[in-house]
Amino acid sequence: MKKLLSFFVVAALYSLPLSAQSDRWQQRAKYEMNIDFDAQKHQYKGTQKLVYTNNSPDTLIKVFYHLYLNAFQPGSQMDVRSRTIADPDARVKDRISKLSPSEIGYEKILSLKQNGKPLKYQVVGTILEVTLADKILPKTQHTFDLQFEAQVPLQIRRTGRNNSEGIDYSMAQWYPKMCEYDYEGWHSNPYIAREFHGIWGDFDVKITLDASYVVAATGYLQNPDKIGYGYSKKDVKHKAGEKLTWHFVAPEVHDFVWAADPDYKHDVVKVDDKLALHFFYQGDSLSRVWKEMQPMAVQAFKIMNEKFGRYPYKQYSIIQGGDGGMEYPMATLITGRLTLPALVSVTVHESIHSWFQMILGTNESKYGWMDEGFTTYAQNIVMAELFPTKLDPQRGSTASYRSLVKSGLEEPLTTHADHFNTNRAYSVASYSKGAVFLNQLGYIIGKEKLETGMKRYFNEWKFKHPNPTDLKRIMEKESGLELDWYWENFVGTTKTIGYGIKEVVSIGGKTDVVLAREGQIPMPLDVVVSYKDGSQENFYIPLEIMRGEKSESLYSKTTLLADWGWTYPEYTFTIDKNLADIERIVIDPSQRMADINPDDNVYPSLPKELPRLKGEKVQ
Ligand SMILES: [Zn+2]
Repeated sequence: MKKLLSFFVVAALYSLPLSAQSDRWQQRAKYEMNIDFDAQKHQYKGTQKLVYTNNSPDTLIKVFYHLYLNAFQPGSQMDVRSRTIADPDARVKDRISKLSPSEIGYEKILSLKQNGKPLKYQVVGTILEVTLADKILPKTQHTFDLQFEAQVPLQIRRTGRNNSEGIDYSMAQWYPKMCEYDYEGWHSNPYIAREFHGIWGDFDVKITLDASYVVAATGYLQNPDKIGYGYSKKDVKHKAGEKLTWHFVAPEVHDFVWAADPDYKHDVVKVDDKLALHFFYQGDSLSRVWKEMQPMAVQAFKIMNEKFGRYPYKQYSIIQGGDGGMEYPMATLITGRLTLPALVSVTVHESIHSWFQMILGTNESKYGWMDEGFTTYAQNIVMAELFPTKLDPQRGSTASYRSLVKSGLEEPLTTHADHFNTNRAYSVASYSKGAVFLNQLGYIIGKEKLETGMKRYFNEWKFKHPNPTDLKRIMEKESGLELDWYWENFVGTTKTIGYGIKEVVSIGGKTDVVLAREGQIPMPLDVVVSYKDGSQENFYIPLEIMRGEKSESLYSKTTLLADWGWTYPEYTFTIDKNLADIERIVIDPSQRMADINPDDNVYPSLPKELPRLKGEKVQ
């Protein structure tokens, strides 16, 4: 009873801000699933009761479900996409085309009813198209009862059986999942490899399978004393051949993942009184590196709680499985045979997705940069604390973005994840340019405003579907600046940033500095002048269209200059000192502005590298 009570208290607490903080409506789903799993055949039968609440002002005449496992069949859109894209994912390539009938994945619908009435439906690849018996009117609740059977595919991408490290079942995208309908309409995208969007709701899942398996999942286990396996202190003996039912409840999430393996070792480590991390990994050979990783994972959660907002659930599971690292609510599947820094890095990255996408539920198909990019940005910060370095933690993201620009393959961040022409353009845009976006936003509005803005973003948009404009409004309110020009250019286009010091001229005891805008995206400028007496002065040039100035405590002395109207190609300011007193002038020494060609940002210009002699070794 106590558990049940605490679930409802938690659910009530979580659902409160949904109506309180923003007036944008969102749909609600309550799933109850019962799964009977046959580990001999790698198949399962399931029943699903879905209580669907239409909070929209619209009347719905159709609904759609994702049937993700159908992607793992020869000739599927995912298979063909992988065989025709210029740079296929090495994990997929042509592997789907070679799956035999016993190795493919499928989800077959056996029956579907709405409020007890049988429904007409059609399976179109990975989408179930359903014609409703009863229209779903605004502000009404309807119940869908679905029976299905499914086969777990050989592990190709994210989900499946027998992954490369021998984990029996990595069960992601495994159940018929209602597509999200939001203020932008239906999102019934066929599954062709990447990115998800789901309805906020509650899951109650019972999984029955051979008692030799240890199960890890989203949510809280409801019957730990029957299960044992590290979930309770009691050592529970299970008979060979017996089946065991695992009962999980997950409040306020938009997906549910689970994994099962007979060899899982299960450790529980507390972050604090309110949060425990669960680790599932294959026994003794990995014990040393996984044990070494655990305190670092704890530390990562502490840093994230402090800098980006409190993780709201009581549990998070780091599960060996999948094919690299993939985030899910309250859990991640990661491959586990790694060196310590690599294992920590993937754990940190996936854990941070708890903030970006699992709590701040952006539609990652449309705005991948808001989850992968922001996760990468925070990962760079957390990793620099766990493995201290004097180097700029964001330098790798900036370098990777610059190299994509130079490759000519870049596409705008507004591109739907499925529609990028290459995997490289998608991944560098989402991961690296997304991280650069935030780092550079800190340059524009100031480091402190970015930090408080990110916390405000978390508090106002948790358990919802924030979009780029929602984030923009938060940052505008936080900084008092107009920021649409930054979103429009850096997100909506592939235009680039370029500034340079064109000329430095001595004029009667004073010095004129002529700056040139060489790129198409305008930016405010920090220009730091170092004098020969050892002092430094930052000349700050706001962009006129910001309608204000940043406040930032990065430099000891800052002189505010006149605004730069963005159409002017040049800007001149005067330093009240002799040219001979000036040691150096640098545009943006913090290097947070992603100038695509930073070579001309320094005066006097840095010596060009001497041409190397033939046969000379490069260090
Ligand atoms: Zn990620």
